[in-house]
Amino acid sequence: MPVRYPSIAWLVLGVIASAAWFVTATRLMRLWGLNDAAPALGLLAAAVVALTLWRWAAADRRGMALAALRCPRCDQPLRTEHSHARPRGVATGIQRWHCGLCQYEHSEALTCPQCAA
Ligand SMILES: [Zn+2]
Ligand SMILES: [Zn+2]
Repeated sequence: MPVRYPSIAWLVLGVIASAAWFVTATRLMRLWGLNDAAPALGLLAAAVVALTLWRWAAADRRGMALAALRCPRCDQPLRTEHSHARPRGVATGIQRWHCGLCQYEHSEALTCPQCAA
């Protein structure tokens, strides 16, 4: 599955970044004399980093799934629809992705070469 491949890289990155931030935050807290709170705040920093990376990974995976025209939820082929920008109507073109199986819907502003014409 080419769509699922990057999640392993993201997982490794997430573990390394979270661990690094745990160590950094714990050290900083000790430096500032907050010995008791150090591990808790270190864990908090690690959790924030892990959450941020997880959200990036989800956005990254969705982008790759849409580019491959596969549904990010159920991996079925997606139907696409494009509305061109019109000179006196909408300023930007709109690209829509729709999954017939799980009713997944996503739309993004996208101006194609024919939009300006
Ligand atoms: Zn267009
Ligand atoms: Zn779907």
